[in-house]
Amino acid sequence: MSVQKATNIHWHAGNITREERWAALKARGCTMWFTGLSASGKSTIASALEQHLVSRGVHCYRLDGDNIRFGLNKNLGFSAEDRAENIRRIGEVAKLFADSGCVALTSFISPYRKDRDLCRELHEKDKAGASGGGGMPFLEVFVDTPIEVCELRDPKGLYKKARAGELKGFTGIDDPYEAPLKPELVLKPERMSVEESVVACLDLLAARGVITR
Ligand code: ADP
Repeated sequence: MSVQKATNIHWHAGNITREERWAALKARGCTMWFTGLSASGKSTIASALEQHLVSRGVHCYRLDGDNIRFGLNKNLGFSAEDRAENIRRIGEVAKLFADSGCVALTSFISPYRKDRDLCRELHEKDKAGASGGGGMPFLEVFVDTPIEVCELRDPKGLYKKARAGELKGFTGIDDPYEAPLKPELVLKPERMSVEESVVACLDLLAARGVITR
């Protein structure tokens, strides 16, 4: 858990509220948080959803596992502590995107429940956040693909390496995955096409007033 290091810092609220920004931009921000095992389909579904939303003119941006580790989180590894910090930073960044009026799509294994819950809390309790107003929607989407299916897909050969003992602390093999207890949406890719998963996500966004259908 990270601590506040700096002292003598003061929050500057700015001149407009979140509601004023969203109304002027005709946008509603939120974070859609995809979680699930490696190769469960998070990136595939989030990318297809992003493509659909952008083609409709919805301001949307995808934050993706490995990509973030090339930049913002390049100094973090896969220990429990580093995984927690990885997710905390992504939660904070997604929250800023959402606050700006963007639909932030995050696709990270995010295996630990408490790390995801912290990100939810960051969003839902952000009343005095960057521009005031109430909290923001945090929509947890569990991409529920059985490990046997993920392992058969193994697009990056990571399960094979983990089984061979060449990769330590791999989620689902020798590191736990804690499934969400109350996700807003559960996708079952072994019996849903990518398109069907996208439609389920769009339905959820519409039900929460983020987009119109
Ligand atoms: P993750 O981001 O969870 O690690 P990826 O999206 O990178 O997973 O990989 C999932 C793999 O499973 C891709 O190769 C994708 O084409 C494949 N796949 C097959 N069927 C589906 C489906 N119904 N939904 C999502 N992905 C699927």
